[in-house]
Amino acid sequence: MKSIVIIGCGNVGLEYLKKLCMIDMALDISLIDVDEEKLVGEILDLEHSLVYRNNNISLKVGNYNDCDNADIVVITAGVPQARKDRMSDLEKANEIAVDITNKLRETSFNGIILVACNPLDVITELIAHYTDYPYNKVIGTGTMLDTARLKSLISKRINVKPSDINAYVLGEHGNSQFVAWSNANIGLENLSMFLSLNDKEELEYETLHMGGTITKCKGYTSDGVASCLLELTLCILNDLKKVYSVSNYNTTYDVYLSTPCIIGKKGIDKVINIKLTSDEEEKLKESSEVISEALDKILPKELY
Ligand code: NAD
Repeated sequence: MKSIVIIGCGNVGLEYLKKLCMIDMALDISLIDVDEEKLVGEILDLEHSLVYRNNNISLKVGNYNDCDNADIVVITAGVPQARKDRMSDLEKANEIAVDITNKLRETSFNGIILVACNPLDVITELIAHYTDYPYNKVIGTGTMLDTARLKSLISKRINVKPSDINAYVLGEHGNSQFVAWSNANIGLENLSMFLSLNDKEELEYETLHMGGTITKCKGYTSDGVASCLLELTLCILNDLKKVYSVSNYNTTYDVYLSTPCIIGKKGIDKVINIKLTSDEEEKLKESSEVISEALDKILPKELY
């Protein structure tokens, strides 16, 4: 039986949990949150929905000992989302990362860590640093969500199935992200054949601001990122070797940022080497600098 520990069960953690409960796989799921009473209620409520699904899922309020044999630890503990820059709560987010990794280090966990907490790239790198796990085993959802948002927007504009659109948002899961239009295509045709420059600018702008748009309407975002976590979970548990733009350690810029990677049972199986234009390469560098500067505030490189 595969085993998953979810640390932080707020909007994102619970949405991911609900999606996990819909799959047909035997799973042992442990939940950890500072608010244990809430977990008791959530588990009871979910268990009643599982009666009619008839799958083999066991849920419990967990503790860090459950990480010993876990295949995946999913970290979604964080500061409640606000409609402001993701970097603004960095210090508090770092305190949470320190708390969690201090406890995780005391276990014999040897699986894969998935991170969804903001500021995403900085916190993913800090978690990799604090745990001292190999980089391929610590993965941030990164721009996988922004890529989904972009594909959805393109799909509506040109009426093609999102899954048949091959386009990626790269860099920071934040303001400095960008679309690698030079590599974006449908079939073998570059998207420039379907979209004007103006279309591209609008789509990129809407993608970047989509989180804010959703938060303005419903108060938070959860479904999109929870689906990314579910996809990554399925890739790892079933060794699917699918390609997603996730936050991974970039050897050129020495920070975590998003580029397409092959995901399998070892976590990041391979980082895809994509050829960017010089303009796009400059944007990737700018993204790395934003992430580096934020990291420096918490953990200057000389202390590494
Ligand atoms: P939330 O406030 O609803 O949930 C956070 C949960 O973490 C709470 O239940 C809280 O009790 C718990 N928590 C806090 N500190 C903890 C600790 N030390 N140990 C264990 N649990 C702890 O927030 P949310 O809306 O679920 O968002 C969670 C995180 O995910 C935030 O950082 C948010 O910015 C991020 N997020 C990321 C994306 C993405 O695309 N990557 C999308 C949405 C939200």
